[in-house]
This record gives sequence, C-alpha cells and structure tokens, in this order.
Amino acid sequence: MDYVSLIRDIPNFPKEGIIFKDITPLLANGPALAAAVDDMAAPFKDKNIDLVVGIESRGFIFGPGVARELGCGFAPVRKAGKLPYHTESLTYDLEYGTDTLEIHVDAVVADHRILIVDDLLATGGTAAAAGELIAKIGGIVSGFSFVIELDFLEGREKLGSIPISTLIHY
Ligand code: IMP
Repeated sequence: MDYVSLIRDIPNFPKEGIIFKDITPLLANGPALAAAVDDMAAPFKDKNIDLVVGIESRGFIFGPGVARELGCGFAPVRKAGKLPYHTESLTYDLEYGTDTLEIHVDAVVADHRILIVDDLLATGGTAAAAGELIAKIGGIVSGFSFVIELDFLEGREKLGSIPISTLIHY
C-alpha cells in the first residue's frame, strides 16, 4: 500500500516552522485505512498482547481497529482532566513547557502485555510517557505501533529495547 501519497504536509501548523503530517487523506481512503490497521497489528499477532492502549487523540482512531485485529480490548491514555474515574498521571517535558497524560488506575490487569498505538512518533516524549504510565499501574509494555515515524528526531531512543513498528519513515 502506498501510504506516503496519502499523507499531506501542512507547513507552519500548529505553529510557525513545523511541517505537520496530516493523515486525514489516509483515513478517508477505505482500502488504505483497512490496510494501515492490519499492518499496524501484524507484527504483534504472535506476541500475546492482552490490551491495546491508544494515545489521545489520533491513537484513538487506529487503536480500536488494531485491538480488534489482535482479539483484545482497548484503553485510552488521555490529556489531563478528561478521564472520569481515578487516574494515574504523569507530567513530561515538551520542547516548550510540559504536558500531562492520564490513565485509569484499573485500565490494565497486573502483568498483562500492552501494545501502545499512536499515529506518529516524533521526539518520543509522548509515547515514553504513556509507557511509564502503563508500567506505574502494573502493565508490561510489549510494543509500540505507529503509522509515521520522524526518524531525524530519534524518538525511538526514548523507548528502549521494546519492539517498535512503523509504517512510514521520514
Ligand atoms: P512526540 O511526543 O514529540 O513524539 O510527539 C508525538 C505526538 O505528537 C503524537 O501524539 C502525535 O499525534 C503528535 N504529533 C506531533 N507531530 C505531528 C505531526 O506532524 N502530525 C501529526 N501528529 C503529530
């Protein structure tokens, strides 16, 4: 599947100097969306994944499809203040400032194997924070699956030796 032709570059969004990778053309294409979900799940089919965790917000688009492929459930990691039940939270550094992610304290069963899903790996701060959150509540982070990886930002360096799958590298 030619995913690259379905990713649109948006210069200076959300701020000056950033080239945003817009995945909405890929989402609008039925065969491409189905193939992307299948390809995100495929490397983890024999890895005994118990739960997929998707990161707000575009991890929510791909995560449930990947979970369905793997025959497991889904749990959300959200920005601060969005989840209704008791949460574990983690604040991490951004290029400018900080951000906070949260997960329900009962989102994972102890020692269950978790696959983290998001649309894009940039500096790795978001995915690493989601991984730390899952570890805090007793899950075992067993893989990361992304649509896009910005190789030049070396985000995977922050994710240690955990298997990472990416469909498109820039
Ligand atoms: P990181 O924490 O620097 O790895 O940034 C990854 C997070 O920012 C992911 O949740 C992405 O959805 C989002 N993100 C960063 N850059 C882009 C982009 O160019 N397109 C879409 N999402 C992006």
